[in-house]
Amino acid sequence: MASEFLRVDNLTKSFGTNTVVKGVSFAFEKGEFISLLGPSGCGKTTILRMIAGFENPTSGSITVDGNDITHLKPNQRQLGMVFQAYALFPNLNVGDNIGFGLKIAGMPTEERRARVADMLKLIGLPGFEKRYPYEMSGGQQQRVALARAIAPRPRMLLLDEPLSALDAKIRVSLREEIRAIQLDLGITTVFVTHDQEEALSISDRIVVMNAGNIEQLGAPHEIYNKPATRFVATFVGQLNTIEAVVSDVAAKKVTIDGQTVSLHTLPDNAKAGAGISLTLRPEVLTVGARADNDISLTGTISDVTFLGSVIRLRVALGTNIVSLDTFNDQRTAPPVRGEPVTISLASKDLLVLAA
Ligand code: ATP
Repeated sequence: MASEFLRVDNLTKSFGTNTVVKGVSFAFEKGEFISLLGPSGCGKTTILRMIAGFENPTSGSITVDGNDITHLKPNQRQLGMVFQAYALFPNLNVGDNIGFGLKIAGMPTEERRARVADMLKLIGLPGFEKRYPYEMSGGQQQRVALARAIAPRPRMLLLDEPLSALDAKIRVSLREEIRAIQLDLGITTVFVTHDQEEALSISDRIVVMNAGNIEQLGAPHEIYNKPATRFVATFVGQLNTIEAVVSDVAAKKVTIDGQTVSLHTLPDNAKAGAGISLTLRPEVLTVGARADNDISLTGTISDVTFLGSVIRLRVALGTNIVSLDTFNDQRTAPPVRGEPVTISLASKDLLVLAA
Protein backbone atom coordinates (compact mmCIF):
# COMPACT_ATOMS: atom_id res chain seq x y z
CA MET A 1 0.00 0.00 0.00
CA ALA A 2 1.76 3.13 -1.22
CA SER A 3 0.36 5.81 1.04
CA GLU A 4 0.35 3.74 4.23
CA PHE A 5 1.62 6.02 7.01
CA LEU A 6 0.98 4.47 10.41
CA ARG A 7 1.27 0.74 10.73
CA VAL A 8 0.82 -1.31 13.89
CA ASP A 9 1.66 -5.00 13.60
CA ASN A 10 0.62 -7.66 16.08
CA LEU A 11 1.06 -5.24 18.98
CA THR A 12 0.84 -6.89 22.38
CA LYS A 13 1.23 -5.50 25.89
CA SER A 14 1.20 -7.43 29.12
CA PHE A 15 1.52 -6.02 32.62
CA GLY A 16 2.74 -9.06 34.54
CA THR A 17 0.31 -11.85 33.67
CA ASN A 18 -2.36 -9.41 32.52
CA THR A 19 -2.36 -9.04 28.72
CA VAL A 20 -4.23 -5.81 27.97
CA VAL A 21 -3.43 -5.43 24.25
CA LYS A 22 -3.67 -8.73 22.38
CA GLY A 23 -1.95 -8.79 19.02
CA VAL A 24 -3.53 -5.69 17.50
CA SER A 25 -2.79 -4.78 13.85
CA PHE A 26 -3.96 -1.85 11.74
CA ALA A 27 -2.68 0.49 9.04
CA PHE A 28 -3.72 4.03 8.17
CA GLU A 29 -2.95 6.52 5.48
CA LYS A 30 -1.35 9.91 5.82
CA GLY A 31 -3.78 12.59 6.91
CA GLU A 32 -6.38 10.27 8.39
CA PHE A 33 -8.16 11.06 11.64
CA ILE A 34 -8.33 7.77 13.51
CA SER A 35 -10.22 7.11 16.72
CA LEU A 36 -9.49 4.30 19.13
CA LEU A 37 -12.92 3.75 20.69
CA GLY A 38 -13.90 1.39 23.47
CA PRO A 39 -14.99 1.06 27.07
CA SER A 40 -12.75 1.86 30.00
CA GLY A 41 -9.92 -0.64 30.36
CA CYS A 42 -10.08 -2.03 26.78
CA GLY A 43 -6.45 -1.04 26.11
CA LYS A 44 -6.86 2.03 23.91
CA THR A 45 -4.70 4.34 26.04
CA THR A 46 -2.03 1.65 26.27
CA ILE A 47 -1.91 1.47 22.45
CA LEU A 48 -1.59 5.26 22.23
CA ARG A 49 1.17 5.24 24.87
CA MET A 50 3.06 2.58 22.92
CA ILE A 51 2.80 4.69 19.76
CA ALA A 52 4.04 7.70 21.77
CA GLY A 53 6.91 5.70 23.28
CA PHE A 54 5.80 5.97 26.94
CA GLU A 55 5.20 2.24 27.13
CA ASN A 56 7.28 -0.59 25.66
CA PRO A 57 5.36 -3.21 23.70
CA THR A 58 5.71 -6.79 24.93
CA SER A 59 5.84 -7.75 21.26
CA GLY A 60 4.89 -6.39 17.88
CA SER A 61 5.97 -3.31 15.95
CA ILE A 62 4.98 0.26 15.10
CA THR A 63 6.00 1.92 11.84
CA VAL A 64 5.52 5.58 10.93
CA ASP A 65 6.12 6.68 7.36
CA GLY A 66 8.18 3.57 6.66
CA ASN A 67 10.42 3.90 9.77
CA ASP A 68 10.21 1.35 12.55
CA ILE A 69 9.80 3.48 15.70
CA THR A 70 8.98 0.63 18.10
CA HIS A 71 12.09 1.13 20.21
CA LEU A 72 12.79 4.85 19.77
CA LYS A 73 12.65 7.21 22.75
CA PRO A 74 9.52 9.41 22.86
CA ASN A 75 11.47 12.57 21.90
CA GLN A 76 12.94 10.82 18.85
CA ARG A 77 9.54 10.04 17.36
CA GLN A 78 8.50 13.55 16.27
CA LEU A 79 4.96 13.12 17.56
CA GLY A 80 2.75 15.71 19.23
CA MET A 81 0.58 14.70 22.16
CA VAL A 82 -2.37 16.20 24.05
CA PHE A 83 -3.60 14.64 27.28
CA GLN A 84 -6.90 14.57 29.12
CA ALA A 85 -5.89 17.07 31.80
CA TYR A 86 -4.59 20.30 30.34
CA ALA A 87 -1.02 19.63 31.42
CA LEU A 88 0.26 23.10 30.55
CA PHE A 89 3.28 24.36 32.49
CA PRO A 90 1.49 26.51 35.10
CA ASN A 91 4.45 28.85 35.66
CA LEU A 92 4.93 29.62 31.95
CA ASN A 93 2.77 31.99 29.96
CA VAL A 94 0.94 30.83 26.85
CA GLY A 95 3.67 31.95 24.47
CA ASP A 96 6.34 30.06 26.40
CA ASN A 97 4.13 27.01 26.72
CA ILE A 98 3.58 26.84 22.97
CA GLY A 99 7.20 27.70 22.24
CA PHE A 100 8.61 25.17 24.71
CA GLY A 101 9.38 22.37 22.24
CA LEU A 102 10.66 24.88 19.69
CA LYS A 103 13.10 26.35 22.21
CA ILE A 104 14.40 22.89 23.14
CA ALA A 105 14.87 22.17 19.44
CA GLY A 106 16.99 25.32 19.22
CA MET A 107 14.74 27.44 17.05
CA PRO A 108 15.92 31.10 16.98
CA THR A 109 13.85 33.55 19.06
CA GLU A 110 12.32 35.53 16.16
CA GLU A 111 11.26 32.46 14.25
CA ARG A 112 9.86 30.98 17.44
CA ARG A 113 7.87 34.11 18.18
CA ALA A 114 6.39 34.06 14.69
CA ARG A 115 5.51 30.36 14.94
CA VAL A 116 3.81 30.91 18.32
CA ALA A 117 1.79 33.81 16.88
CA ASP A 118 0.74 31.62 13.93
CA MET A 119 -0.30 28.84 16.28
CA LEU A 120 -2.38 31.24 18.38
CA LYS A 121 -4.16 32.42 15.25
CA LEU A 122 -4.76 28.84 14.22
CA ILE A 123 -6.48 28.01 17.53
CA GLY A 124 -8.48 31.25 17.56
CA LEU A 125 -6.58 32.91 20.43
CA PRO A 126 -4.48 35.56 18.68
CA GLY A 127 -2.54 37.80 21.03
CA PHE A 128 -2.81 35.48 24.03
CA GLU A 129 1.00 35.12 24.42
CA LYS A 130 1.25 36.80 27.81
CA ARG A 131 -1.70 35.08 29.49
CA TYR A 132 -1.08 32.42 32.12
CA PRO A 133 -2.92 29.09 32.17
CA TYR A 134 -4.79 30.04 35.37
CA GLU A 135 -6.26 33.04 33.55
CA MET A 136 -7.93 30.85 30.94
CA SER A 137 -10.96 28.56 30.71
CA GLY A 138 -10.53 24.79 30.39
CA GLY A 139 -11.41 24.93 26.69
CA GLN A 140 -8.86 27.69 26.05
CA GLN A 141 -6.17 25.78 27.94
CA GLN A 142 -6.87 22.69 25.89
CA ARG A 143 -6.56 24.71 22.68
CA VAL A 144 -3.18 25.97 23.93
CA ALA A 145 -2.17 22.36 24.68
CA LEU A 146 -3.11 21.51 21.08
CA ALA A 147 -1.08 24.45 19.76
CA ARG A 148 1.90 23.35 21.86
CA ALA A 149 1.63 19.83 20.43
CA ILE A 150 1.49 20.92 16.79
CA ALA A 151 3.93 23.87 16.96
CA PRO A 152 7.03 21.71 16.24
CA ARG A 153 5.21 20.34 13.15
CA PRO A 154 5.14 16.72 14.33
CA ARG A 155 4.65 13.82 11.94
CA MET A 156 1.57 12.72 13.81
CA LEU A 157 -0.76 13.99 16.52
CA LEU A 158 -1.82 11.78 19.45
CA LEU A 159 -4.83 12.87 21.48
CA ASP A 160 -5.74 11.04 24.70
CA GLU A 161 -9.34 11.93 25.61
CA PRO A 162 -8.52 15.64 25.25
CA LEU A 163 -12.14 16.72 25.62
CA SER A 164 -13.29 14.62 28.55
CA ALA A 165 -12.62 17.25 31.24
CA LEU A 166 -14.72 19.90 29.46
CA ASP A 167 -18.45 20.55 29.72
CA ALA A 168 -20.77 19.31 27.00
CA LYS A 169 -21.14 22.47 24.87
CA ILE A 170 -17.40 23.27 24.83
CA ARG A 171 -16.66 19.63 24.10
CA VAL A 172 -18.72 19.75 20.91
CA SER A 173 -17.35 23.08 19.68
CA LEU A 174 -13.74 22.15 20.47
CA ARG A 175 -14.00 18.80 18.72
CA GLU A 176 -15.22 20.62 15.60
CA GLU A 177 -12.27 23.00 15.91
CA ILE A 178 -9.79 20.16 16.34
CA ARG A 179 -11.17 18.43 13.26
CA ALA A 180 -11.01 21.65 11.21
CA ILE A 181 -7.37 22.28 12.27
CA GLN A 182 -6.45 18.65 11.60
CA LEU A 183 -7.93 18.82 8.10
CA ASP A 184 -6.26 22.16 7.48
CA LEU A 185 -2.83 20.79 8.45
CA GLY A 186 -3.45 17.35 6.94
CA ILE A 187 -1.85 15.82 10.02
CA THR A 188 -2.40 12.13 10.74
CA THR A 189 -4.12 11.97 14.11
CA VAL A 190 -4.88 9.19 16.58
CA PHE A 191 -7.61 10.09 19.06
CA VAL A 192 -8.52 7.99 22.10
CA THR A 193 -12.09 8.23 23.33
CA HIS A 194 -14.75 6.15 25.07
CA ASP A 195 -17.46 8.44 23.69
CA GLN A 196 -19.08 6.89 20.62
CA GLU A 197 -20.74 10.11 19.47
CA GLU A 198 -17.37 11.88 19.60
CA ALA A 199 -15.70 9.13 17.56
CA LEU A 200 -18.50 9.00 14.99
CA SER A 201 -18.52 12.75 14.48
CA ILE A 202 -14.80 13.44 14.20
CA SER A 203 -13.13 10.41 12.56
CA ASP A 204 -12.24 9.23 9.10
CA ARG A 205 -11.98 5.73 10.52
CA ILE A 206 -12.62 4.15 13.90
CA VAL A 207 -10.97 1.20 15.62
CA VAL A 208 -13.53 -0.29 18.00
CA MET A 209 -11.73 -2.10 20.82
CA ASN A 210 -12.95 -4.56 23.42
CA ALA A 211 -10.82 -6.32 26.04
CA GLY A 212 -7.54 -5.79 24.18
CA ASN A 213 -8.83 -6.84 20.75
CA ILE A 214 -10.15 -5.02 17.71
CA GLU A 215 -13.85 -5.74 17.22
CA GLN A 216 -14.17 -3.70 14.03
CA LEU A 217 -12.27 -1.14 12.00
CA GLY A 218 -14.09 1.08 9.57
CA ALA A 219 -15.51 4.46 8.62
CA PRO A 220 -18.14 5.87 11.02
CA HIS A 221 -21.05 4.95 8.72
CA GLU A 222 -19.73 1.40 8.32
CA ILE A 223 -19.35 0.93 12.06
CA TYR A 224 -22.82 2.27 12.73
CA ASN A 225 -24.76 0.87 9.77
CA LYS A 226 -23.01 -2.49 9.52
CA PRO A 227 -21.69 -3.38 12.96
CA ALA A 228 -19.64 -6.55 12.68
CA THR A 229 -20.44 -7.88 16.12
CA ARG A 230 -23.06 -7.56 18.81
CA PHE A 231 -20.52 -5.71 20.96
CA VAL A 232 -20.06 -3.02 18.30
CA ALA A 233 -23.80 -2.75 17.69
CA THR A 234 -24.53 -2.15 21.37
CA PHE A 235 -21.49 0.00 22.17
CA VAL A 236 -21.95 2.31 19.19
CA GLY A 237 -25.45 3.73 19.01
CA GLN A 238 -28.69 2.37 20.36
CA LEU A 239 -30.03 -1.05 19.59
CA ASN A 240 -33.48 -2.61 19.78
CA THR A 241 -33.77 -6.33 20.31
CA ILE A 242 -37.00 -8.16 19.50
CA GLU A 243 -37.45 -11.78 20.55
CA ALA A 244 -39.26 -13.75 17.86
CA VAL A 245 -40.13 -17.39 17.23
CA VAL A 246 -39.49 -19.02 13.84
CA SER A 247 -42.82 -20.23 12.47
CA ASP A 248 -41.97 -21.28 8.89
CA VAL A 249 -38.36 -21.77 7.76
CA ALA A 250 -39.08 -22.05 4.00
CA ALA A 251 -41.21 -18.89 3.94
CA LYS A 252 -38.85 -17.14 6.42
CA LYS A 253 -41.76 -16.38 8.72
CA VAL A 254 -41.44 -15.49 12.38
CA THR A 255 -43.96 -14.63 15.06
CA ILE A 256 -43.55 -11.55 17.25
CA ASP A 257 -46.06 -11.07 20.03
CA GLY A 258 -48.59 -13.25 18.14
CA GLN A 259 -48.08 -11.31 14.87
CA THR A 260 -46.57 -13.27 11.98
CA VAL A 261 -44.24 -11.48 9.56
CA SER A 262 -41.90 -12.55 6.72
CA LEU A 263 -38.22 -11.69 6.96
CA HIS A 264 -35.64 -11.03 4.28
CA THR A 265 -33.33 -13.70 5.70
CA LEU A 266 -33.25 -16.18 8.55
CA PRO A 267 -30.12 -17.46 10.28
CA ASP A 268 -28.75 -20.56 8.48
CA ASN A 269 -29.49 -22.84 11.41
CA ALA A 270 -33.05 -21.56 12.02
CA LYS A 271 -35.56 -24.24 13.06
CA ALA A 272 -39.34 -23.98 13.30
CA GLY A 273 -40.31 -23.28 16.91
CA ALA A 274 -36.90 -21.92 17.87
CA GLY A 275 -36.46 -18.43 19.31
CA ILE A 276 -34.35 -15.84 17.47
CA SER A 277 -33.35 -12.30 18.39
CA LEU A 278 -33.95 -9.58 15.81
CA THR A 279 -31.83 -6.48 16.22
CA LEU A 280 -32.43 -3.09 14.67
CA ARG A 281 -31.56 0.58 15.07
CA PRO A 282 -34.32 2.86 16.42
CA GLU A 283 -34.32 5.00 13.27
CA VAL A 284 -35.29 2.16 10.93
CA LEU A 285 -38.66 2.09 12.71
CA THR A 286 -41.41 4.39 11.47
CA VAL A 287 -44.67 5.27 13.20
CA GLY A 288 -47.42 4.16 10.78
CA ALA A 289 -46.94 2.46 7.42
CA ARG A 290 -44.36 3.47 4.82
CA ALA A 291 -44.29 2.41 1.17
CA ASP A 292 -40.95 0.58 1.33
CA ASN A 293 -41.53 -1.00 4.73
CA ASP A 294 -42.58 -4.63 4.41
CA ILE A 295 -43.22 -5.35 8.11
CA SER A 296 -45.95 -3.73 10.18
CA LEU A 297 -46.52 -4.44 13.85
CA THR A 298 -49.07 -3.10 16.28
CA GLY A 299 -48.23 -2.29 19.86
CA THR A 300 -48.86 0.17 22.65
CA ILE A 301 -46.92 3.33 23.46
CA SER A 302 -45.37 2.59 26.83
CA ASP A 303 -43.30 5.75 27.27
CA VAL A 304 -42.92 9.19 25.68
CA THR A 305 -39.80 11.34 26.19
CA PHE A 306 -39.87 14.86 24.81
CA LEU A 307 -36.38 15.85 23.61
CA GLY A 308 -37.16 19.04 21.68
CA SER A 309 -36.64 18.39 17.99
CA VAL A 310 -37.43 14.70 18.42
CA ILE A 311 -39.78 12.70 20.60
CA ARG A 312 -38.50 9.33 21.76
CA LEU A 313 -41.14 6.64 22.03
CA ARG A 314 -41.03 3.28 23.67
CA VAL A 315 -43.46 0.84 22.16
CA ALA A 316 -44.48 -2.44 23.77
CA LEU A 317 -45.01 -5.38 21.44
CA GLY A 318 -46.11 -7.89 24.07
CA THR A 319 -43.05 -8.37 26.24
CA ASN A 320 -40.73 -6.75 23.67
CA ILE A 321 -40.10 -3.04 24.13
CA VAL A 322 -38.60 -1.11 21.23
CA SER A 323 -37.56 2.51 21.14
CA LEU A 324 -37.81 4.86 18.19
CA ASP A 325 -37.61 8.60 17.56
CA THR A 326 -40.20 10.67 15.78
CA PHE A 327 -39.73 14.24 14.64
CA ASN A 328 -41.51 16.77 16.77
CA ASP A 329 -44.17 17.79 14.26
CA GLN A 330 -45.53 20.84 16.07
CA ARG A 331 -48.75 20.84 14.01
CA THR A 332 -50.00 17.55 15.39
CA ALA A 333 -50.74 16.51 18.95
CA PRO A 334 -47.81 14.69 20.61
CA PRO A 335 -48.06 10.90 21.12
CA VAL A 336 -49.63 9.77 24.38
CA ARG A 337 -48.60 6.93 26.66
CA GLY A 338 -51.04 4.00 26.55
CA GLU A 339 -52.24 4.67 22.99
CA PRO A 340 -52.20 1.87 20.42
CA VAL A 341 -49.71 2.44 17.60
CA THR A 342 -48.65 0.77 14.37
CA ILE A 343 -44.95 0.75 13.61
CA SER A 344 -43.27 -0.46 10.43
CA LEU A 345 -39.84 -1.37 9.14
CA ALA A 346 -38.09 -2.90 6.17
CA SER A 347 -36.90 -6.43 6.96
CA LYS A 348 -33.66 -5.73 5.07
CA ASP A 349 -32.83 -3.14 7.77
CA LEU A 350 -32.61 -5.79 10.49
CA LEU A 351 -29.00 -6.23 11.56
CA VAL A 352 -27.33 -9.60 11.18
CA LEU A 353 -24.78 -9.83 13.98
CA ALA A 354 -22.06 -12.28 14.91
CA ALA A 355 -22.13 -13.30 18.57
P1 ATP B 1 -9.48 4.19 30.15
O1 ATP B 1 -10.40 4.90 29.21
O2 ATP B 1 -10.13 3.87 31.45
O3 ATP B 1 -8.12 4.81 30.28
P2 ATP B 1 -8.34 2.29 28.32
O4 ATP B 1 -9.16 1.53 27.35
O5 ATP B 1 -7.57 3.43 27.80
O6 ATP B 1 -9.27 2.74 29.51
P3 ATP B 1 -5.88 1.32 29.34
O7 ATP B 1 -5.60 2.55 30.10
O8 ATP B 1 -5.15 1.07 28.09
O9 ATP B 1 -7.44 1.24 29.02
O10 ATP B 1 -5.73 0.08 30.33
C1 ATP B 1 -5.96 -1.25 29.92
C2 ATP B 1 -5.72 -2.16 31.09
O11 ATP B 1 -4.33 -2.15 31.42
C3 ATP B 1 -6.45 -1.77 32.36
O12 ATP B 1 -6.95 -2.95 32.96
C4 ATP B 1 -5.38 -1.13 33.20
O13 ATP B 1 -5.66 -1.32 34.56
C5 ATP B 1 -4.15 -1.87 32.78
N1 ATP B 1 -2.93 -1.04 32.92
C6 ATP B 1 -2.67 0.09 32.26
N2 ATP B 1 -1.46 0.60 32.60
C7 ATP B 1 -0.95 -0.26 33.52
C8 ATP B 1 0.28 -0.31 34.26
N3 ATP B 1 1.22 0.62 34.11
N4 ATP B 1 0.46 -1.35 35.10
C9 ATP B 1 -0.48 -2.30 35.23
N5 ATP B 1 -1.65 -2.32 34.56
C10 ATP B 1 -1.87 -1.32 33.72
